[in-house]
Amino acid sequence: TDVPHKKVEKICCIGAGYVGGPTCAVIAAKNPHIQVTIVDLNADRIAAWNSDKLPIYEPGLDEVVRSCRGRNLFFSTDVDKAIIEADLIFVSVNTPTKTKGQGAGYAADLGYVESATRHIAKVAQGDKIVVEKSTVPCRTAQSMRFILEANARPGIHFDILSNPEFLAEGTAIADLTNPDRVLIGSLNTPAGRSAAASLADVYAGWVDRQQIITMNLWSSELSKLAANALLAQRISSINALSAICEATGADVDEVSYACGLDQRIGKRFLKASVGFGGSCFQKDILNLVYLSESLHLPEVAAYWRQVVEMNEYQKKRFLNRIISCLFNTLTGKKIAILGFAFKKDTGDTRESAAITLCKYLRQERANVSIYDPEVEERQIWMDLAEPGVQDERKELEKQFTIAPSALEACKGADAVVVCTEWDEFRNSKLDYKKVYAEMNKPAFIFDGRLILDQKELEEIGFHVEMIGRPRSN
Ligand code: NAD
Repeated sequence: TDVPHKKVEKICCIGAGYVGGPTCAVIAAKNPHIQVTIVDLNADRIAAWNSDKLPIYEPGLDEVVRSCRGRNLFFSTDVDKAIIEADLIFVSVNTPTKTKGQGAGYAADLGYVESATRHIAKVAQGDKIVVEKSTVPCRTAQSMRFILEANARPGIHFDILSNPEFLAEGTAIADLTNPDRVLIGSLNTPAGRSAAASLADVYAGWVDRQQIITMNLWSSELSKLAANALLAQRISSINALSAICEATGADVDEVSYACGLDQRIGKRFLKASVGFGGSCFQKDILNLVYLSESLHLPEVAAYWRQVVEMNEYQKKRFLNRIISCLFNTLTGKKIAILGFAFKKDTGDTRESAAITLCKYLRQERANVSIYDPEVEERQIWMDLAEPGVQDERKELEKQFTIAPSALEACKGADAVVVCTEWDEFRNSKLDYKKVYAEMNKPAFIFDGRLILDQKELEEIGFHVEMIGRPRSN
């Protein structure tokens, strides 16, 4: 704030996804004097943002959007106009893992970031602050600067900032309105510091100044990858311990509780489960692995790669437990999958453990019935399909059904598998006596999220199998 800087009046956000949408909606809601336009090439997505049924499910999002849409918050496909009008532009496009070519399976596909950057350079008619909101490999801002400067109209100046997003899906609005910190990375030049101060003012519309941290561009970019790697590492660590618990009689919830009470460790993100999912953890760690390798640090790469491998192993271990409990064959048996989203309070299924599990169950020739309160049927079919296989849907329908309720999914099932920790699957919410009555016997229940009351279910008659607790039969 002590450096001279411009007040931001108009913001454009390129990318109306899980990050761009909620983030810029909160910015608009908290800064009524700033005009915010969120643009996307995907016309269906923009139409949904302008409708009553928003394209993503996120608690509290409807209210935020309704409070300012049409006032100072706009959703549009007119990318050029929004760029021309804005003095600050967020780039919040997808950066998925590359599936082909150099670095396939590890490196981030930066094609969307590059094309959005070129677009800005091509149409901008005045100076702009360009903010990297997408999660990107360290030093991407350098490439963006190069592209912007090489394509800028004469006399136009671009400042580039890194402002990684730390929101988690399912709690996006709470995370955005009450963030642990806001990170702004800039070049350590007068222009860079001034641009950072302009962006800091936007967040100061509701965030305490002390929580708005400025640092150099590369630290900021790397901090995002580092934060996700450290969070995922905690999950893989507790999941690795869950395997030892299952084999010894220790209880992973108790171990987690005991360790978490240590102030140096802390209790958050120490919950054992069937494995982490979501579009970011795996992608960002693989990115860190690729970065380490390209810096000729193979041991560092191997260290982080293990976090992802442990996650795959956890899913496989869970499947093996289901098979062995169900008398070593799943052929023709009915398995009810409760929850398909990668976690509760979101309809997002990207990298969801349930997808992997369903694909394994298909190979075991099980019949699978899936229920999720927020994931659309169309999405589930898309996730189950193997890319490039003809008549896949017909084939899938021989083994998979999608149920309208948890109870319906469980009818005639040999086993119920909780994959997502939705509150409605808790003992207090779902009538497990009814579920039990409708199931094949013996009736098994596998809790991949540690949300169930084992004792209560056993009293009903279930065989209960929990992650991180020894087998009960
Ligand atoms: P998303 O796929 O939901 O949204 C990206 C949007 O960008 C898409 O709608 C796409 O159509 C649009 N887009 C791509 N190129 C465009 C262009 N040139 N012009 C206009 N629109 C364009 O992705 P997301 O989940 O919002 O993630 C965006 C970024 O934020 C990623 O880098 C991700 O790693 C990061 N991030 C995600 C989360 C999360 O929880 N999802 C959290 C923090 C950071």
